Amino acid sequence: MASNPNFIPGIYNYCDRWCERCSFTDKCMNYAMEKERFPKSHDNPDVDNEVFWEELAETLHDTLEMLREMMKERGIDIDEIEVTEEDEKKEEDLREFTKNHFLTKMADEYIKMGDEWLKRMEPAFEENGVYYDRSDMEGDKEKMVALRDALEVIRWYLFQISVKIQRALQGMQRHEGPDDEAFLYDSNGSAKVALLGIDRSLSAWQRMTGFFPKEEDNIIDMMILLGRLREKTEKVFPGARKFKRPGFDEG
Ligand code: SF4
Repeated sequence: MASNPNFIPGIYNYCDRWCERCSFTDKCMNYAMEKERFPKSHDNPDVDNEVFWEELAETLHDTLEMLREMMKERGIDIDEIEVTEEDEKKEEDLREFTKNHFLTKMADEYIKMGDEWLKRMEPAFEENGVYYDRSDMEGDKEKMVALRDALEVIRWYLFQISVKIQRALQGMQRHEGPDDEAFLYDSNGSAKVALLGIDRSLSAWQRMTGFFPKEEDNIIDMMILLGRLREKTEKVFPGARKFKRPGFDEG
């Protein structure tokens, strides 16, 4: 698959992993591999289903076997891999730096606010028909679909924004000089994915205010937090917006 010229190299490294909504599935090697590896669960993209987890467990077994073989070929003994105290300290410092960074704290605050709001509003979503099949919808279908779409967007990015920001911070911290340009590249790419998630979430929250006018104040609080996070992320990662994601930003 890697030599297939139809695939865009590395497109899956800086996407949001929302394959169901991606217009590049036919150009993505990762998508093709997943489809080949998990044919049954691909027909039913419910990640909670039993088949998915069974297939995943089978893959883990094969992967570990493959890893053992590869290490054997290279003469590596897993017990002999030396991690010095200095390495451990460096990693620990990096984790602390990321955890305590103000961007992480803001992104985690957004998760908390968003998650609480979504849980509190669950009955209202049901009342508005969000969980019906589109074909079964009664009443104002357009409204139901629009509400469901906004909800899906908010849910998809709620946790991802923080994860991508933390990855971007780690890359920034690991980047210590010209020899580490790959870290800077990765840092900007991850920050861009976080920023796109923020942009889309902001639009989705804006739509939410139209569905639940009484919730406007609460929604606006979250939008203000997201807006500030957006601005600060752009400042911390000045190269992020200019980052060209393979495929998506290359015409
Ligand atoms: S590029 Fe698209 S198809 Fe490939 S992993 Fe990302 S979202 Fe999925």
